Amino acid sequence: MRDRLSYDVVVVGGGPAGATAALYTTRLGHSTAVFEKEGGRHAAVNHVHNVYGVSEDVSGRALSSHAVAQLEAYGADYYLDPVANVRRADGNGDGSTDGRFVVEAEHATVAAERVVLATGFTDREPSVPGLQTFTGHGLHYCLHCDGYLLGDASAYVLGHGDHAAGVAMILLNFTGDVDLLLDGRDPEWSDDRERQIRAHPVERVDTEVTRAFADDEDDDRLGGLEFADGREREYRGGFAVYGKSYNTGLAESLGCALADDGAVDVDERFETSVDGVYAVGDLTHGQNQTVVAMGDGAKAGMAIDKDLRRYPRPPGEEVDESAVPSAPADLRSRMRLVRERDSHPGLGESESVE
Ligand SMILES: Cc1cc2nc3c(=O)[nH]c(=O)nc-3n(C[C@H](O)[C@H](O)[C@H](O)COP(=O)(O)OP(=O)(O)OC[C@H]3O[C@@H](n4cnc5c(N)ncnc54)[C@H](O)[C@@H]3O)c2cc1C
Repeated sequence: MRDRLSYDVVVVGGGPAGATAALYTTRLGHSTAVFEKEGGRHAAVNHVHNVYGVSEDVSGRALSSHAVAQLEAYGADYYLDPVANVRRADGNGDGSTDGRFVVEAEHATVAAERVVLATGFTDREPSVPGLQTFTGHGLHYCLHCDGYLLGDASAYVLGHGDHAAGVAMILLNFTGDVDLLLDGRDPEWSDDRERQIRAHPVERVDTEVTRAFADDEDDDRLGGLEFADGREREYRGGFAVYGKSYNTGLAESLGCALADDGAVDVDERFETSVDGVYAVGDLTHGQNQTVVAMGDGAKAGMAIDKDLRRYPRPPGEEVDESAVPSAPADLRSRMRLVRERDSHPGLGESESVE
């Protein structure tokens, strides 16, 4: 058995981006661990939309628990343990690890040859009392996912920035009944944006929003919003557009360069400016979609494989037969087990691997 405190690849963040990267590196024969802190955007998804072949009854959490079972079945290790720090192992002289990086979580410290950061971003939430409880049922963050649900219904956009005004106008593609709610704040958009928004049939409401209330027939669903002047408006739902904070703490402490918008900067292989550190998913861009995150993870997994795989050796170099194959012994026996299970359906998934 290989020393389990040392991995080829350690992925920080077990959402769609990180889990997919881990699936690829594991199935390409590299020892892989995923560290996950519960939460993240995928866990806020009640009904996953826009994912090819996945029923929309499925939640982000259900998708994730299936992914964990899948990862473990193929031989990856999954730690429900938030990572506090990632640092280079070189030059520390602590003798505790043998990889290029040291990943320190709350309950475990492991070594890694390559690190994948998949820590996502955090949406800035609206401050309207009671609105948070309707997340996914009247409070939304993702136009590409949930604009469709508001088709032909009364909708709001909460926000006072340029992007909020833009989203309000985009919503007109779905419904003719859109309010832009400034919630007592001054607009921060440009004069051009002001002219543009005035030219569209979007109702602008300056008053503070004091409360969210439930639908009469369904307690879990938003019914509407109450304003400081005492008025109430019924809404099927809407979007909070206050921007986001990229979860870049670990990336920054490693010295990874950030893009102008605060996302982690990556090249076409999803490698950051720090050699051996990759970043994927929402952490690296604003195209927040499950399949985009999965695609990033797949591409990073394949890039890491290309980086780590030992064969073919350059022309002229003799291969030592005793070192072949290069996949670790326990992953190889897991490969045999999975193969047998696939050809003999019903064979238990939890059989031990020597
Ligand atoms: C309400 C809502 C509804 C959505 N609906 C849809 C939809 O229907 N269809 C769709 O395609 N997209 C949807 N999205 C967008 C989608 O959820 C994201 O694009 C996707 O989850 C991004 O995946 P990710 O892995 O990059 O990030 P995340 O899903 O955010 O995962 C990041 C993970 O990293 C973990 N993490 C962070 N810091 C640490 C740390 N220090 N140590 C260990 N782990 C850490 C987090 O806990 C989290 O699990 C929705 C988003 C929201 C908020």
